[in-house]
Amino acid sequence: MIIKGSCHCKATQFEVAYVPETVTRCTCSICSKRGGLWAYYKPADVRFISDNSKSSYEWQTKVCKINFCSVCGCSTYNETPDFSTGAPNFDNPQIVINARLFDDFDVGSIEVFEIDGKNLW
Ligand SMILES: [Zn+2]
Repeated sequence: MIIKGSCHCKATQFEVAYVPETVTRCTCSICSKRGGLWAYYKPADVRFISDNSKSSYEWQTKVCKINFCSVCGCSTYNETPDFSTGAPNFDNPQIVINARLFDDFDVGSIEVFEIDGKNLW
């Protein structure tokens, strides 16, 4: 089932190929301030219809692009290497969508997986 999503002003619009099994709530310094519920996709499973007002924030090691809409300020998505084995795997890039931006979809119906980023990195 394809899900469409957008930021508040619609400058960012996208489709993802399927409903995520879980969404991740992270307690790290940036996620706790941004408040996203993160759904992980391979780039091939995300199609951007428009992404004209993207701004990016990077800090520390600068391996993750933390993207937001420069018009309406919504946290939109992150571009990261795969961290599932601990070290960053740059051969397996990921698009980490803020599932709160899904349109006409109850994100509350998806199980939330909490990751303790505050103490992990
Ligand atoms: Zn926007």
